Amino acid sequence: MPDTSRDLIFPAPIFHEKIWGGRKLATDFGYEIPDGPIGECWAISAHPNGDCVVSGGAWDGMHLSELWDQHRELFGNVEGDRFPLLVKIIDAKDHLSVQVHPDDAYAAEHENGSLGKRECWYVLAVDPGTKIVIGQRAHDRAELAQMIEEGRWDDMLNLVPCHVGDFFPIEPGTVHAIQGGTLILETQQSSDVTYRVYDYDRVQDDGSTRELHIQQSLDVVDYGMEAPASGEVTAPEVDGVTELMECPNFVVDRVRVSGEKNVEQEWPFLCVSVIEGSGTVSASEAGVTHEIARGTHFLAPAGCGTMAFAGDMTLVTSRLP
Ligand code: ZN
Repeated sequence: MPDTSRDLIFPAPIFHEKIWGGRKLATDFGYEIPDGPIGECWAISAHPNGDCVVSGGAWDGMHLSELWDQHRELFGNVEGDRFPLLVKIIDAKDHLSVQVHPDDAYAAEHENGSLGKRECWYVLAVDPGTKIVIGQRAHDRAELAQMIEEGRWDDMLNLVPCHVGDFFPIEPGTVHAIQGGTLILETQQSSDVTYRVYDYDRVQDDGSTRELHIQQSLDVVDYGMEAPASGEVTAPEVDGVTELMECPNFVVDRVRVSGEKNVEQEWPFLCVSVIEGSGTVSASEAGVTHEIARGTHFLAPAGCGTMAFAGDMTLVTSRLP
């Protein structure tokens, strides 16, 4: 018997206005977004700063955090006090701040028990010639403090070329900045802790500047990190699947669907984002066919069975390792 409680779960995205945001989440992705510069679409999130509500199906109207707390069977009964992942789309019309994130240990101690933030970027669109900041060149805390003090950003920051389809892992402690003209799918730990190193001296509508966090940044920067030179994906594609990243927090894959493709949902849960194309998907245990297209995101719960995709699509998936 089909069981709709095992069907795929479609969270409604949540949009955040940002000083650097644009309108591409509407013009490129077709989302209905609020007025103003919208920088982030939180597509799959149970974070308190943006807790998605399920749209349709057996769990219609429930927050993702409620599903996590009350129906852990949907997540394979994994342990944990919060849903661990957050999937977003970032529309950077202007530069994001130069920033760094703490690891779990630092965040737990200094940020009220928050998770740290490991993140990764899949480049969806980028203006020609745009680069991206990953890594910094100071060898130790004193040198970095001096570079910041003197505003020697060109000496300090490592720029990497950026192309559609590039993928960049961003470890905690890595100084980074998405540059204007970039549209990115970000998979990250469920955390909202950002330490700003530099914000281009930008002034907000009310005349204020955004807070910087220099001391925390100096604390958490990984001075031994080797910056990447390229985001080109070199991992092999096997049966349409390319592993982009495996780390202690998540595994991220790119999956190409060309015609028909079955994917066994054998993990506690799987986050799926359609980044190109369109088609349909149905989960064998639920027997419901869903139309999906670029910009659709869903959670495949434990026990949903085999996901049968049809169409021509590229997906980015994430799950626990
Ligand atoms: Zn970041």
